[in-house]
Formats: sequence, C-alpha cells, structure tokens
Amino acid sequence: AKADGGGQFVFYTREMTERAMARLRLEASLRAAAERHDFELAYQPKINAASGRLTGFEALIRWRLDGALIPPMEFIPVAEDTGLIIEIGAWVLDEACRTATRWSLDHGPLPVAVNVSARQLADAGFADLVESTLRRNGTPAELLEIEITETVIMKNVLHHLPTLNRLRALGVRIAIDDFGTGYSSLAYLRQLPVDVLKIDRSFVNDLPHAPDIASTVIALAQRLMLSTVAEGVETIEQQRWLAEAGCDSLQGYLISRPVSADAAEAMVMGAFAR
Ligand code: C2E
Ligand code: CA
Ligand code: CA
Ligand code: CA
Repeated sequence: AKADGGGQFVFYTREMTERAMARLRLEASLRAAAERHDFELAYQPKINAASGRLTGFEALIRWRLDGALIPPMEFIPVAEDTGLIIEIGAWVLDEACRTATRWSLDHGPLPVAVNVSARQLADAGFADLVESTLRRNGTPAELLEIEITETVIMKNVLHHLPTLNRLRALGVRIAIDDFGTGYSSLAYLRQLPVDVLKIDRSFVNDLPHAPDIASTVIALAQRLMLSTVAEGVETIEQQRWLAEAGCDSLQGYLISRPVSADAAEAMVMGAFAR
C-alpha cells in the first residue's frame, strides 16, 4: 500500500506486522483464558452518602497474564471484537451472583453490580442467561445490578428495550453507567426500566468548583425517582458536596479501591458497619 519510497514500504509493513502479531497473541491468550475462566473479580464498595454504610459492590474483572495485570480497557474491547465477551461475561455474572448470595446470607441484602457490554446486551440469550444464572446460584434477583453505559443503551434503545424489560421483570436492578457522557433522550429515559444513574467520574472530578452537571443529574434522577451513585469520588470535598446535594451512594478511591473478594468479604463482615 505504502509504495512511495522503498525504505518506508518496509518500515510500515514491519510495524504493521508487529502490531498485528501482538494483537493475534493477545487474542490467543484471551481465548485460552476465556476457556479456563482464568480471571478474577475485584470488588469496589459503595456507601450510602448520608450514613456512610456499605450499600453494595461493583464487580470489576481482572486478568493476569504472565504475572502482569492487563487493564480491562485493553482486553474488553478485544473480547468484544472476537465475541469472547459472551463466554467471559457469563463467567463474570456467575461469579458475581455466587458471591452476592454468600455475602447477603451473612450481612443482609448487599447487591453486586456487573458491567455488561454492548455485545452481551445485544445477544439474544442474555436475559435467559441472567435468569438461569440467578437460579443456579439461588440468588434473589434484587442482589444483582446490571451496569450498562449510557452510550450503549441510547445508541440502540428500542432494540434493547425488550431485554431490559425482561431483566426488570425478573427483579434485577438496572443502572446507567457513565451517565452524562453520551446523549440521553429524556423521553426515552422516562420510559426505560432503569433504577440507578451513575454520575460519570469526569463530572465528580469537577466538584466542588464546577458542579453544574452533577447537580443536573441528581435533580433529574430525583424527578424520575431514580437513585444516584457518584463514581470516582477521590476527595473529602467531593464527598461532602455530593452528600449535601442529595446523591444517594458514593464510590471511589476515597472510600476504597477495588479489592480482592477476601478483602471485600472482610468489609462485609464488619469493617464498614460504622
Ligand atoms: P467503569 O465501569 O466505569 O468502572 C470504573 C473504573 O474506574 C474501574 O476501572 C475502577 O477501578 C476505576 N475507579 C474506581 N474508583 C476510582 C477513583 O476514585 N478514581 C479513578 N481514577 N478511578 C476509579 P477498571 O477496573 O480498570 O475498569 C475499567 C472499565 O472496564 C470499567 O469502567 C468497565 O467499563 C470495564 N469493565 C470492568 N470490568 C468489566 C466486566 O466484568 N465486564 C465488562 N463488560 N466490562 C468491564
Ligand atoms: Ca480462576
Ligand atoms: Ca461500571
Ligand atoms: Ca466510568
């Protein structure tokens, strides 16, 4: 393709080949990991903004390859492209349901939220998968929350509506993730079976000096009787602002980083019961 100048031709092809090879290696490793379910879930707690009490967790996938942790932002897109996300996502769902069931027996209801990507949500069997996973693990549906980004929901809202309605009918809670970063049709938002708006970290980061978006999302949620979670809370000032503004739950490094299942269980067993 790049025939101008013989030397450049070689340079470009070699670089492209190396990139393509690295990608193929990553895909092969990911395929092997998906077959063996060679992942872990980290859990990040959420607390009630007013009381400080633990209200639930978000499950975040972790993949260790040859000792190094590969960030989800690097392999989730590859899992999406290759379709491996279906297998990986089913494992995440199963693991999260099993854990939520166990913790709630000790503690009382503590929902665990699971991130679901575009391809999973579009998969015709997704609602059935959720239903069978809940049943297999004896998990009350209220213990499972599904996080879907605003962009994914709104891009194809009419297509996703039947699946969302089925999930809601099961009793699963639905959260719109990264809220405020995409385009939401207010007319659709009112009709969607949604329970939670998660205020994107970028807007929490602007607090307290530029609170317009966060204020607007909280007011909108209150109007629609949805609950709000602020993600990426890193400072006391942000925490204070959000509690005063009436945000329901807080999540972020200030409260806790995502931690191992064992460390999260220690929180469940008392460390957070203030
Ligand atoms: P997300 O759903 O928006 O998750 C929040 C990300 O922000 C997580 O990164 C979390 O570790 C990080 N985070 C939490 N609190 C703070 C904070 O106070 N400050 C900062 N700077 N960051 C914070 P992580 O675990 O690397 O995940 C990145 C993204 O990968 C997630 O974004 C989600 O879109 C995706 N992801 C993670 N696990 C899964 C999964 O099981 N399935 C799917 N489909 N996607 C996943
Ligand atoms: Ca494993
Ligand atoms: Ca999320
Ligand atoms: Ca986010």
